[in-house]
Amino acid sequence: MDRHRNKADWQALDAAHFLHPFSDSRQIADRGTRLITRAEGIYLYDVDGNRILDGMSGLWCVALGYGRRELADAAYRQMNELPYYNSFFQCTTPPAIELAAKLAQLTPPQFQHVFFTGSGSEAIDTVIRLVRRYWQLAGEADRNVIIGRWNGYHGSTIAGASLGGMKYMHGQGMLPMPGVEHIQQPYGFELGMGQSSADFGVAAARLLEEKILEVGAHRVAAFIGEPVQGAGGVIIPPQTYWPEIQRICDRYGILLVSDEVICGFGRTGQWFGCEHFGTRPDLMSMAKALSSGYLPIGGVMVGDRVANMLIAKGEEFAHGFTYSGHPVCSAVALENLCILEREHVVEHVRDVAAPYLQERWAAFAAHPLVGEARGVGLLGALELVRSKEPRQWFEPRGKVGERCRDNAIRNGLVMRATRDTMIIAPPLVITRSELDELVEKAWRTLDQTYDELKRDGLL
Ligand SMILES: *Cc1c(COP(=O)(O)O)cnc(C)c1O
Repeated sequence: MDRHRNKADWQALDAAHFLHPFSDSRQIADRGTRLITRAEGIYLYDVDGNRILDGMSGLWCVALGYGRRELADAAYRQMNELPYYNSFFQCTTPPAIELAAKLAQLTPPQFQHVFFTGSGSEAIDTVIRLVRRYWQLAGEADRNVIIGRWNGYHGSTIAGASLGGMKYMHGQGMLPMPGVEHIQQPYGFELGMGQSSADFGVAAARLLEEKILEVGAHRVAAFIGEPVQGAGGVIIPPQTYWPEIQRICDRYGILLVSDEVICGFGRTGQWFGCEHFGTRPDLMSMAKALSSGYLPIGGVMVGDRVANMLIAKGEEFAHGFTYSGHPVCSAVALENLCILEREHVVEHVRDVAAPYLQERWAAFAAHPLVGEARGVGLLGALELVRSKEPRQWFEPRGKVGERCRDNAIRNGLVMRATRDTMIIAPPLVITRSELDELVEKAWRTLDQTYDELKRDGLL
């Protein structure tokens, strides 16, 4: 790497050669990218030396924060010992075995097996392969329809984008693929007006039953959902939602898949989101915080119901990735999980950080721009509205969120905007005083955004 290049050189090269995910490349060429050059703890440093509190843990993944030497050392040791070998054709490596055993220990008791992937999207592809194979082996090959939710996010491969319910993604690629159905999301702020939260939760879950009956119960293989929708805008279902989903899955015998790519490994204050909401999934997809994002790795926890069927068959499951169980990624993930355990990080979230954040976060409801302040664990969302009573959104949707996000970054805080919903998911190791800083920066940002909107006649 040429360290003598300056910011302008890098931005020019970036615009010339680098097509970015989920970005408007013309806007990048016009405005230049945000260049992050190093990080420590919960802070990022950009090329100009600005210190920015990373309220999003990178992309929801850097659970332990930046600069953990133990993770770098684990990678270095493993690279010298054995940088790569595959896990196809009866082969294996010690770090992948150790990680599999650690995951079996940390996950709910029905999970004794894991299938490794390189990412969350690959985990979702693997879920589809496993679900369909399971029903084939069970002698019900017609059960191949998988039901997801509108505005859910399950990654960006053809399968992930299909199971996800992002209509703008579907529109760009002849999606969803066949055999996928969607039901409405449990988004109380937009869809639950005039109902109690408990009633709305049950009603939203019953949409699954309606869909099963519409498709035909003999054709439905599985339901998939994120315990809390992350990319969709930190949408937290009412407490009544997941138990009703579980009841419906049990009633029709369909597999329940919990996409734990964001909620897994402590985000809600429990190890897994399904434990927070009290479901008993058959499969769980994981990635992101599995390695705190230091190296790419994902996987699917395969519950006994599915695993026993696959194993009993005594036949090859024709699925896998070159990097399934990658020894270096596995070694880093294992070290990451050991640190989460040793330093009681999940307990820190549950007992210290989450209660404190949620108490302070709730106060945002009094801000004139905020129609709802909600959160769980170390997740938070603020719904920006033009008017609270009667409720009016900004038109067109999304512009105010973008503006608020840009103000946040100028104030040294990464907050993400999903339409006009501002969201945070800070590193799990964040302290009380760092949470104070996050909340103060968010207040300043909202105040500035409010003043600007007044000034520009948008309020
Ligand atoms: C990020 C995400 C994925 C996709 O993971 P990638 O590693 O980006 O492929 C899948 N599901 C959920 C819930 C996610 O947040």
